Amino acid sequence: MSFDLSARLAARRADNLYRHRPLLESPQGPQVVVDGQPLLAFCNNDYLGLANHPQVIEAWQQGASRWGVGGGASHLVIGHSRPHHALEEALAEFTGRPRALLFSNGYMANLGAVTALVGQGDTVLEDRLNHASLLDAGLLSGARFSRYLHNDAASLAKRLEKAVGNTLVVTDGVFSMDGNVADVPALAREAKAKGAWLMVDDAHGFGALGATGGGIVEHFGLGLDDVPVLIGTLGKAFGTSGAFVAGSEALIESLIQFARPYIYTTSQPPALACATLKSLELLRSEHWRREHLNRLIGQFRQGAEQMGLQLMDSFTPIQPILVGDSAQAVRLSQQLRARGLLVTAIRPPTVPAGGARLRVTLSAAHTEAQVQLLLNALNDCWPTLESNHA
Ligand SMILES: *Cc1c(COP(=O)(O)O)cnc(C)c1O
Repeated sequence: MSFDLSARLAARRADNLYRHRPLLESPQGPQVVVDGQPLLAFCNNDYLGLANHPQVIEAWQQGASRWGVGGGASHLVIGHSRPHHALEEALAEFTGRPRALLFSNGYMANLGAVTALVGQGDTVLEDRLNHASLLDAGLLSGARFSRYLHNDAASLAKRLEKAVGNTLVVTDGVFSMDGNVADVPALAREAKAKGAWLMVDDAHGFGALGATGGGIVEHFGLGLDDVPVLIGTLGKAFGTSGAFVAGSEALIESLIQFARPYIYTTSQPPALACATLKSLELLRSEHWRREHLNRLIGQFRQGAEQMGLQLMDSFTPIQPILVGDSAQAVRLSQQLRARGLLVTAIRPPTVPAGGARLRVTLSAAHTEAQVQLLLNALNDCWPTLESNHA
C-alpha cells in the first residue's frame, strides 16, 4: 500500500490546474521583482499601498525594540500583551462595536467564530461562492450545512424555513474572486426575520469601501443588530497580518472561551499589532488613498469595456476579466508576463468549472499611467485568445 501522489500531481498538470509559486524578491508593491524579473503587478491585496509604508515599518521596528519579537504564549496564558489589547480597543472603536478580538489570520478567525457559535443540532447557511475558509468552517462545525444560491436572499429564505437549532448565515462582504458585494441588507432582513445571526467576512471591504474605510457595513449603514458577527482581516488593505472579529461583549467573551483556533495558538508578535495600529490610523485618515483607488477602478473599467473585455459586476478593487477556459487564462497571463505585467490566472477549484479568469486587483499605490500600461497590454494580448472567437 502506498500513496500515489505522483499520479495526482500528473492529473493536476494534465488539467492545466497545476499551481506554481512566483518567488517575490522585493517588497510588496506595484513594481516587484519576481523570479529575477522586474514586473508591474496587478495581483496583490494591498489595496491602500500600506504593506511597505515607511510609517508602518517604523511602528513595527519600534514595537520590536519595545516588546521583542515573539508573542511567547497563547492569549489565555501569557501571550496577550498591551499592543494586542490596544489594537482590539482601536478596532472596536473603528467598527463601532462594543468589542473586537484579534486572531492570527482570517482563516483562523473564520474557523474560530463559526465553530464556536454552531455545532451539532444547529444550522449554518452559506453563500455558494464564500471564501474557502468559511466553507471549511461550516463543514468543521458539525452543524447542518447548506449553501444558498450566490447572493440570493430568496434562496436563503427557503433554507431558513428548514433550519434547526441556532442558525448562522455566513457571507463574504466582497466576494474575493468576483469583486461584487453581498446584498447584506437583504440577507440581514431574512436572517433577522428568522432569529438567525448574520456573519459577514469583510476581508476585502475594510479599507476600500465606506466613507472612512469601514467596509461593507459602513457602505450600507448597517449596525450590530443587522450584522452581529463582523470579520475583518489585516493582511489586505491594512497591509499587515492577522484578523479580527467585532461584535457584542457576549460574542467576544464566548469566542475567548470556546473558539479553539483562538485558544490553542501563540499570539501574533506584539510588534505586528504596533504596525497594524499605525496602518489603521493611516487607513482611517488618508482618504486620498480610497479616492485615488476609486479613480483607478473607474479608469480600468472604462478602458476594459471599450475593448470589449468581459468584466464582472464590481466597483471594488477586485476587477477580474472572465476568460472561461483554464488553459486560455494561463496563456493570457503568460503573454502579459512576457510584456512585464504580472496578473494571476485563477482557475478551478478556486472558481467554478469553466470560470477561469485573470484576477486584476488595483491598489492606491498604482498610478494612472500604470493602469494605462495594463490596458495597452490587454489590448495587445486579448485578441490572440482562441476563446475570444468562439
Ligand atoms: C484572504 C481571505 C481570508 C483569509 O484571511 P488571511 O488573514 O489571509 O488568512 C478570509 N476570508 C476572505 C474572504 C479572504 O479573502
